[in-house]
Amino acid sequence: MRVAGDWLNAPNTTALLSALGSPADTVLFVGGCVRNAVLGHRVADIDLATPMVPEEVMQRARDAGLWAIPTGLAHGTVTIVAGNARFEVTTFRKDIETDGRRAVVAFSTDIRDDAQRRDFSMNAIYAEPDGTIVDPLDGRFDLFARYVRFVGDPIDRIVEDYLRILRFFRIIAWYADARHGIDPAGLAACGALREGIGQIARERVGAEMRKLLSAPDPRAALAAMAASGVLNAVVPGAKAEPAQAVVALEKRLGVAPSWLRRLTAMGCDDPAEALKLPRAQNEALQAGKKALAKAERPAARAFRYGAEAARTAILIEATQGIDPPDDWQAQIARGAAATFPISGHDLVDKIGAGPALGKRLDAMRNDWIASDFALTREALLSGR
Ligand code: ATP
Ligand code: MG
Repeated sequence: MRVAGDWLNAPNTTALLSALGSPADTVLFVGGCVRNAVLGHRVADIDLATPMVPEEVMQRARDAGLWAIPTGLAHGTVTIVAGNARFEVTTFRKDIETDGRRAVVAFSTDIRDDAQRRDFSMNAIYAEPDGTIVDPLDGRFDLFARYVRFVGDPIDRIVEDYLRILRFFRIIAWYADARHGIDPAGLAACGALREGIGQIARERVGAEMRKLLSAPDPRAALAAMAASGVLNAVVPGAKAEPAQAVVALEKRLGVAPSWLRRLTAMGCDDPAEALKLPRAQNEALQAGKKALAKAERPAARAFRYGAEAARTAILIEATQGIDPPDDWQAQIARGAAATFPISGHDLVDKIGAGPALGKRLDAMRNDWIASDFALTREALLSGR
């Protein structure tokens, strides 16, 4: 069996492969790119595995004029840049000691060792440079069935690295076939060991949650996370049902999914803190919450907090039985594009700088919003 795809034949990929040389088993594609190619999903990043030690990988890349970065030498990972593409090339390895967060590794020349240290059977499938599948653990059958199964005993594998709990649900959200259900042994292990998530840096947990909630339909994964207690171990107070309702509504209306909207819907106090979200994401989250708290027309909320925040508020309200006006999408576009025609400069001569000016400006802005952005600058300044 062979995989194919533009990513495989792209000039940058070809340049990388010829730099690292032959024979065919010197370097193999692995993980997400192979999995996604088989499923017909988009291939975003390309990971490769090799029996060569990292120094040799770096040497060969540099000899061929490519840029090689020692990203994680201790774990055998080298990033190679070819054109505008980056490739992560990791030496076959065996994790010999782990503490739930990081591993002490030994390099190996045996692909089975490398496959066995990977998280799920569908992530342990390799492809040769021509696309020929190499599948030491027979993971392809789980992949065809879209069944997410830990490599080895789920409890052992989670105790080695608690991030795998989040990865389990993330991979399910994106790739599982809900009709086949969720692997009971994997799910039970995630539930039993959920407190271990506290050992993982919250940024890493947050990054996995972002990916999970960005899936087109994460409803089944969210339900399982909630039922197993994992959701609350990750984001205290979060509920799955309101997020599921938002997903259903997004689908029905054809609105593009938004992971922050789904997170907001889960209704916990401070998800940004629990997930240590980067500042821009936290700001977007707060804007959505403010828009939700302000019961105004969609256009007004879009003007005040931006289109995305307004959309989040309207959709979450709609799942709570507050129907939006028919033209809500047009209102949001209009509100987000509107520009208030007055600034402090227009008032400073009359009122003087100070708190009174700010108050007056706020009042004028509210009048203008209430007029559906119709009041002109002249009308506002003449006080009509
Ligand atoms: P995507 O890149 O599409 O998000 P991916 O499966 O490629 O998905 P990466 O984080 O890029 O995910 O990891 C690449 C591969 O490395 C995985 O497919 C898996 O084989 C392995 N891997 C990643 N993280 C872990 C982990 N915590 N434990 C074991 N193996 C892992
Ligand atoms: Mg990847």
